[in-house]
Amino acid sequence: MSNPDNIIGRFAPSPTGPLHLGSLYTALASFLQARSQHGKWLLRIDDLDTPRNVKGADSAILTTLDTFGLYWDDSVAYQSQCLNAYQDKLNELANHQLIYPCSCSRKTLATSQTTAIYSGLCRNKLTPPDSPYALRVKTNAGVISFNDGLQGLIAHNIAEQHGDFILKRKDGIIAYQFAVVIDDYLQQINQVMRGCDLLAETPKQIYLQQLLGLPTPDYMHVPVIVDQIGYKLSKQTRATAVNLTTPNRVIFELLELLKQNPPHELQHAPVSELISWAITHWNAAPLRNLKQVTI
Ligand code: GLU
Repeated sequence: MSNPDNIIGRFAPSPTGPLHLGSLYTALASFLQARSQHGKWLLRIDDLDTPRNVKGADSAILTTLDTFGLYWDDSVAYQSQCLNAYQDKLNELANHQLIYPCSCSRKTLATSQTTAIYSGLCRNKLTPPDSPYALRVKTNAGVISFNDGLQGLIAHNIAEQHGDFILKRKDGIIAYQFAVVIDDYLQQINQVMRGCDLLAETPKQIYLQQLLGLPTPDYMHVPVIVDQIGYKLSKQTRATAVNLTTPNRVIFELLELLKQNPPHELQHAPVSELISWAITHWNAAPLRNLKQVTI
């Protein structure tokens, strides 16, 4: 467990559009979680997936966080500035024969296997392919388990449930799974609070931390906000950008969705007052075992 005097949390949005209510919900939760323990709260822009990046989205995100009183510590980190660190760690895995090139196309995968889990077709090839290839990590049948601070014990057999997953894509882009492990390490993050949509990804990240001998942060996965039909609010479902004109109303609503029961008298309070109330009163317990909240 992390030393509570020394908590370092983070928010790591991808600059694929403006923040919507769902992403601000996670930002606020992780901010309150860190600040209520007098911890640091760092901001990282997950900008590796260049085809999905939207120009100007990073600065729009910073402005939004600022408007909502979610002030971060230190300078903003950008994944795109860490390419050497990812390559170093890939080399480390390669030196230990823990990764291998895979040139399988989607078509090959569709015809050679019945599930989405990679069958390991390229695992034992002796010569590297002469066409573009991805890099996959070798997984084994051991179980990775961790105690999520909100969702309880999670245990996955990585080989069976995930298979040899991709660390570097065929287009040369470092995969999220791999980058996030190095990023959290570089920023010395010891407490990750993020959305439940990433809960099932976490065992893979812990597996990589173990291969690389890196520390595992404490994890807490908060519910995701879903609409009335049960769809997660996301940029893909065209969730609209949060309204910047009345940030205090949005914060009040988010505190209700975070089950913090903000007092009625604060309904029209300025953002700064709401945020300091929320830091003092933050209690994540009502979010335990909750995977979704509906708006
Ligand atoms: N960049 C990821 C996203 O926007 C979040 C990464 C993380 O919190 O681990 O979904």
